[in-house]
Amino acid sequence: MYRVEQLIGGVWGAGGEGGELTVHDPADGSPVSTVPVATADEVAKAVEAARSAAAQWAATPAAQRAAALHRAADELAASAEELAAATTAEMGKPLGDARGGVEAGIGTLRQYAELGPLRGGRTLHGDGAAIDFMAPEPRGVVAAITPWNDPVAVSCGLLGAALVTGNVVLYKPSERTPATGWLLARLLDGALPAGVLSLLTGGGQVGAALAAQEVDVVAHVGSTATGRAIAAACARTGAKALLENGGSDPLIVDAGVDPVWAAQAAATGAFANAGQICVAVERIYVHRDVAEDFVAALVERARTLRVGPGRDPATELGPLVDRRHRDHVHGQVTAAVADGATLRTGGSLPDGPGAFYPATVVTDCRQEMTLVREETFGPVAAVVVVDSFSEALRCAADSPYGLSATVLTPSMSHAQRAWRELPVGTVKVNAVFGGAPGGAAQPRRGSGQGFGYGPELLDEFSTVKTVHIEAPGGGHW
Ligand code: NAD
Repeated sequence: MYRVEQLIGGVWGAGGEGGELTVHDPADGSPVSTVPVATADEVAKAVEAARSAAAQWAATPAAQRAAALHRAADELAASAEELAAATTAEMGKPLGDARGGVEAGIGTLRQYAELGPLRGGRTLHGDGAAIDFMAPEPRGVVAAITPWNDPVAVSCGLLGAALVTGNVVLYKPSERTPATGWLLARLLDGALPAGVLSLLTGGGQVGAALAAQEVDVVAHVGSTATGRAIAAACARTGAKALLENGGSDPLIVDAGVDPVWAAQAAATGAFANAGQICVAVERIYVHRDVAEDFVAALVERARTLRVGPGRDPATELGPLVDRRHRDHVHGQVTAAVADGATLRTGGSLPDGPGAFYPATVVTDCRQEMTLVREETFGPVAAVVVVDSFSEALRCAADSPYGLSATVLTPSMSHAQRAWRELPVGTVKVNAVFGGAPGGAAQPRRGSGQGFGYGPELLDEFSTVKTVHIEAPGGGHW
């Protein structure tokens, strides 16, 4: 059992007068962690304390900040197993996936540690007697508010980029993975000067209290509804809002592809991490020519996934994060079926403890169904049959979100049309996940604003000062 503590003004165990939450293992319902809830007053005090540490961290040479990040990455590597186990216990993902998330987080910290000191500004060409240049500077105080679905990888991205660029950070991990956030914060704090990192814990109201403070940036990874509330709070304070939010990613299966291969890709995209990935495949537009074989292979794969607790190494499909979320997923599936969709496999609530939900395939879906339009965030493949690639592109583009999209096609011209025409931040051709290191993502519409990940995230956490220096009296130095 983890007993989470807050970190305020460099002091562990501070505050928590807002009560206590208990997190339960979604595989069996047993308690995993207890976590203090910050009051609005504690949040305000933490911001004030962080502000007082900002100038010194900003003035610390970039190479020293980078060295601190490298030390933190070493600490994470030494505690990788503990971090992965905490993730699995709190939110249920298979341990192998959790280890992957920790590895990704370590890689991101190291990447930012390498890139941070290399950043510079432009030199400007004005009057030869003057000096003109542009210097990047930290923005100051960053609130980082994160989700539970890949807690280490996502947090390391925001925290690493914000810290190496010289910002102090108030970190508010998800109330569903607070012990994972606490373990991560302890490792980072051990490598940083006291006061540079703060940890505030509790639910959405703590996030809201933090977003309402006079900070310089609120960086949020999470749902679109929360992102919009944060954007409104930032509009009131003048803070910059950096939002990586929800999605409803389409997968297009073109005519001419091997339907069994396409079904394997679709299953990976829809069922990995029980569908709880921002870029999970949420809706599938399959060409009529290959639809029957594709659906048959997808149903087969859904039925043969090994279901179990995340800590069992054989598990391919763990539980959903909790029963509240399972009700949301099941509600979308039953509404679609009531509206004429056909359940091909899954779609029923299993008996027994925990928050398990079966891999589910639903066909005869229509564009206007909530299951197709909205984010489901569960192991559900919603299939729509289309008659042409143009129709698939049109349907894929018709969405309130704009995170990413995948196209499986043997046609180079279709691949070219896809990346040019789809209004999303990332387009993947013939692979549902993957991508080169350093790739950034710039979500559109309801999926957020600003760069998440990649070197561009360093720019998001920086501001630029333009400098013009002349000798006094218009003369020479
Ligand atoms: P969430 O927005 O409910 O919670 C995320 C964080 O925001 C938590 O720490 C929560 O306490 C806090 N929060 C909740 N209400 C708040 C409020 N009113 N003001 C300020 N903070 C508040 O999201 P979640 O359920 O934890 O995560 C799942 C969502 O995250 C999905 O929509 C998924 O697509 C998205 N996500 C997006 C990305 C991306 O890169 N685009 C990555 C991972 C997850």
